[in-house]
Amino acid sequence: MQKILPKKRLNEFLINLMRDYEVIAPIKDKNTKFQVLSKDNIKNLYLKDITEVPVKDYLMPESETILEFKDNKYASREGKTRKRIIFGLRKCDLNSFLILDKVMYDKNYRNRRKNAILIGLYCEYPDKYCFCNSMELEDKYDLFFYPDKGDYYINIGSKLGEELVKSLGNSRKQVIKKLKNSKQLNNKDIQAEYKNKIWEEDAKKCLSCGACTVYCPTCNCFDFVEKQGINLNDAKKIRNQTSCQLQSFSRVAGGKIFRESRLARFKHFVFHKIVYFKNKYSKYMCVGCGRCLRVCPTHIDWVNTINRLK
Ligand code: SF4
Ligand code: SF4
Repeated sequence: MQKILPKKRLNEFLINLMRDYEVIAPIKDKNTKFQVLSKDNIKNLYLKDITEVPVKDYLMPESETILEFKDNKYASREGKTRKRIIFGLRKCDLNSFLILDKVMYDKNYRNRRKNAILIGLYCEYPDKYCFCNSMELEDKYDLFFYPDKGDYYINIGSKLGEELVKSLGNSRKQVIKKLKNSKQLNNKDIQAEYKNKIWEEDAKKCLSCGACTVYCPTCNCFDFVEKQGINLNDAKKIRNQTSCQLQSFSRVAGGKIFRESRLARFKHFVFHKIVYFKNKYSKYMCVGCGRCLRVCPTHIDWVNTINRLK
């Protein structure tokens, strides 16, 4: 049985949730990205299509202190957060969490994940870069909203979700919609294609700017830096997001760089998404959101490249 919420009552519904939770939702500002919702910015709620910036910063911030040494003691930071609701997640966004869950084990990530209630929203307007229905995505959420004419029809996926919509009416009809993408990734069997010359065309255009990885909701590479206080007694270990597309990422002690060429780094991105992660976790590391294609300054489209493979 689905619940029903008139679209014109959505803001009221979200404001009610804000009493007990920190609510995070897509907001249109200079760009479209998830932000903490307030009575001031709710007028800029952006639900038309996928956000430009992915939601991952709310689970693994761009930079955070993991460990602190102060007064002769270590203190680990455990990412304590209020109970949060993340609203307006597309199917690709929801599935990006399932991928991060496979590789992010630290307490900071786990705490944030445990404290997040996830509310999905059906994509009515996938653009020319979206190919999510090629990527074997799962239906995992606490609530999922299907817009239809003047109403949202709401699927319940968990007890926590059920609690949030218990005051809403039951719908008499069932509205479930299948995602429609015009773009497809036709061939994922590329394991034997590592040495194919076809990758060189894209790699020649690549600037190694790392935008594809920054905007990718499933990319999770990080680096550590250690900072010592001026008193020589205090210190911090800080985790920073980084990118496998930067040459410095694979530099190790002694100065050796394991992926020195752009070609090697570019192929690593594609093969990690489609081959290596799948071999290890039985899941693709790509959710087909198309953000890497949308932001690439030289318009590299590795999905088209794969589709051209014989
Ligand atoms: S966004 Fe494009 S140019 Fe930049 S690293 Fe990625 S593939 Fe290369
Ligand atoms: S690789 Fe590209 S399409 Fe796939 S999840 Fe990352 S940004 Fe989205």
